Amino acid sequence: MEVRVDRSLCYGSAECAHRAPSVFAFEDGYGVVRPGREGAGDDPQVREAAEKCPSQAVVLTE
Ligand code: SF4
Repeated sequence: MEVRVDRSLCYGSAECAHRAPSVFAFEDGYGVVRPGREGAGDDPQVREAAEKCPSQAVVLTE
């Protein structure tokens, strides 16, 4: 499963980077998926980050 951050929705709470720091980073005021980690959508921490993102900006796709 793929993971990405929809920057148009992200308001920079940084929660994703705290929940799954091996997958997300916090850069320039936005959550970002670290390069090469776009396929980490099945990671339980990533799923939790998607569920808990306050603006639903963490997007999981098949
Ligand atoms: S948890 Fe959501 S709103 Fe917060 S930085 Fe990550 S993507 Fe953006």
